[in-house]
Amino acid sequence: MKIILMGPPGVGKGTQGDRLSKRLEINKISTGDLFRYHRNQSTELGILASTYMDKGEYVPDHVTIGMVIESIELTENSKGFILDGFPRTIAQATALDNEIGDTGGIDLVIHMVVEREELIKRLSGRQICQSCQALFHSDSARSKIYGKCDLCGGVLYQREDDRPEVVEKRLGVYSKETEPLVEYYKILGKLTEINADGTPDAVE
Ligand code: AMP
Repeated sequence: MKIILMGPPGVGKGTQGDRLSKRLEINKISTGDLFRYHRNQSTELGILASTYMDKGEYVPDHVTIGMVIESIELTENSKGFILDGFPRTIAQATALDNEIGDTGGIDLVIHMVVEREELIKRLSGRQICQSCQALFHSDSARSKIYGKCDLCGGVLYQREDDRPEVVEKRLGVYSKETEPLVEYYKILGKLTEINADGTPDAVE
């Protein structure tokens, strides 16, 4: 099963991707998590990626595509994968088709949809674990101990790119660069749209 989770920042791709990954027992590949991992490790890739991430811009296609293809190749002997945050441009979608076309291509693209105001609310309260990347929210999904991850005890922080001015930029970039992919996958007959305006349990 090869699944793409698509939707704007804050729609819940990370949360639902984790749930789906557990349920289907397949790996989730999140480009955002991979870039943050590299940034925390101060690798060359991470340092390059942060210059784009902090401004709410996309990391250049050739960098992102190379990183994802490597991760997909690692899942070769598994039952499939879930892509969270990739592809985000037509060039990325085409590269993905070229990579996995021989093995049947993508099975399903889940397009998650939520109103803009709700996205902003979700992003402004979002907290992420520095160690295991688990997600929390200051209103709707508080950790049991303030500032600490329920799963691993790691420190929770607010993402630099969840600041209001960067959020505006990210939503604009999404409309321009990523929304055209909805049509791309619709034409291929792979797109399913879901209303993601509910609690994580309701959406699942
Ligand atoms: P996310 O955690 O998915 O919101 O991603 C955080 C940031 O990582 C984005 O705002 C981009 O700067 C970068 N990023 C993640 N995925 C991609 C992608 N497919 N293409 C380009 N940049 C990406």
